[in-house]
Amino acid sequence: MEIKALVVCCMDYRFQKAVRELILDNELNYGDYDMVSIKGGAGNFAQLEEHLIVAKTLHNPQKIILTVHEDCGAKATEYDLEKAIIISKSIFGDEIPIVTKYLKL
Ligand SMILES: [Zn+2]
Repeated sequence: MEIKALVVCCMDYRFQKAVRELILDNELNYGDYDMVSIKGGAGNFAQLEEHLIVAKTLHNPQKIILTVHEDCGAKATEYDLEKAIIISKSIFGDEIPIVTKYLKL
């Protein structure tokens, strides 16, 4: 089993539109990707790691899309994307394509 991507975003409803646009920008359709919607998005490192491992085992996504957003109630910040990349590469290897986006209100 192999899917095109894994998308990680915050649960915050205010960013659903922006996440949807990012998905479309990456030419992903329904059924192409795993979707992880958790508090803090890619800044929730424990949940990120857990979901990356499960996604790799079950679906082997070929790209990882990591997001955090402005004004996150779970305290995630733009700088968390750096560590999220490191975590992602530690699980998927250095060659995995990674897209990051800091979503603004
Ligand atoms: Zn948030």
